[in-house]
Amino acid sequence: MTTGQTQLFDTMTRSKRLFEPLEPGKVKMYACGPTVYGDPHVGNFRSFVSADLLRRWLEYRGYEVTMIMNVTDIDDKTIRDSAKAGEPIKEFTQRYTRSFLRGLDALNIRRATANPRATEYIQQMITFIQALIERGAAYVAEDGVYFDIDKYPDYGRLSGMDLTQSQTTERMAKDEYDKESVEDFALWKKSTPEELKRSENEPGIAWDSPWDKGRPGWHIECSVMTRDLLGDTLDIHAGGEDLVFPHHTNEIAQSETLTGKQFVRYWVHIRHLMINGKKMSKSLGNYVSFDEVLAKYSADAFRYFYLGTHYRRPLDYTEDAMKSAEGSAKRLENTLDLLEATQKAPDTNLDLGPRERKLLDEVEKYRSSFEAAMDDDLDSHTAIDSLHAMSGAINEYLTTTPNKGVTLRAQRTYHSLLDTLGLFEKRGGGADKLTEDLIRTLIDLRNHYRKEKNYKSADEVRNRLTSLGVTLADNAEGTSWKIERK
Ligand SMILES: [Zn+2]
Repeated sequence: MTTGQTQLFDTMTRSKRLFEPLEPGKVKMYACGPTVYGDPHVGNFRSFVSADLLRRWLEYRGYEVTMIMNVTDIDDKTIRDSAKAGEPIKEFTQRYTRSFLRGLDALNIRRATANPRATEYIQQMITFIQALIERGAAYVAEDGVYFDIDKYPDYGRLSGMDLTQSQTTERMAKDEYDKESVEDFALWKKSTPEELKRSENEPGIAWDSPWDKGRPGWHIECSVMTRDLLGDTLDIHAGGEDLVFPHHTNEIAQSETLTGKQFVRYWVHIRHLMINGKKMSKSLGNYVSFDEVLAKYSADAFRYFYLGTHYRRPLDYTEDAMKSAEGSAKRLENTLDLLEATQKAPDTNLDLGPRERKLLDEVEKYRSSFEAAMDDDLDSHTAIDSLHAMSGAINEYLTTTPNKGVTLRAQRTYHSLLDTLGLFEKRGGGADKLTEDLIRTLIDLRNHYRKEKNYKSADEVRNRLTSLGVTLADNAEGTSWKIERK
């Protein structure tokens, strides 16, 4: 594995740049996580899967990646919706944090090195805000503490805003707002009378601070947690494109004002998932739930659907696209099935003839084209094309008696590339030796019943296995089995 050849599109410079971390071989990466106020939906996961892809690719390229993804468990929305649900905010956000983590696992998204919660960092946030006030970049107003964006000359550079015309005298208390509202933003919000009342018998709503009881604004949380866990300068900061403004713009202003150093070396932003031509989002109410999709399609189809399109290109959720992803993923997986079956067959072909050489050449060629595509700003769409070509070459080779040494080499390469995409990780359901032996014993029992023409008992064994997710297939060589992934 070699480092130092991956290009990433950096939002700040609006160009693809060769990726080089600050410290050779090590990557400090941060991805903005979810605000936990509802079950995650299909739209949220495009950016999480893409961040996972980036991390996996850097690891494949030999980097040691430390990745942090935060969980926002205090903000306007968690306060509002926990009240609506009549539930303490802590229980409310914990429930949705669990549901988010379950979603990550279901989609084979590798867990981050840490998932810090905003409420665990309130003291550090207060200290950070105090330092900003001391530097004259923040001020106390009647409803909270605000960052004075006039004090940060580069404000808005990330999103390419022209601020020469704007003289900011207005303040923005809300966490989310659009580009038409370039205003000083809240670092600390004093609790409203309702929030104060709620906080009397409920933790997690208001905290003591030098500026009355209140809570942090959303943007300060990421500046504080990145600094605490990764230091002043991050190699990569990733997130959905909607975070460029105001969230990331504000993170930069806060962090660089405090440290005087560059906050982030590469800004990676992921396009929204669309549905019927609109951004899929909870607030627009046009979302498809995660469970709804996983009830119909495999997790691999789901990942394939996201990765089949480059992360900066538009992607529309449709049933047809999901069906087609399922079919394409199955084709790739079928090659793994064939390769595994080959390894179980007796070794009869020891030739290293023209067919073998041709296969090895092709595998090498498609591996190179896969790597080149991924190094080009994670072009997973083109990379997957190479994988299909490799799969075709392997399938073709396996139509006659294969040389097992050669297929094993092909299998290793094929597998290692699938791993960078996080596909088919739950193959075999992680069956250990004992599980395999138990399944084999039950298959023998079923075959014994069949020989005795006791089909009722034979079917019973098969059905019980099916209900556990183990499917059987009878063929000329006997009975094979597979743990279905769901
Ligand atoms: Zn963030």
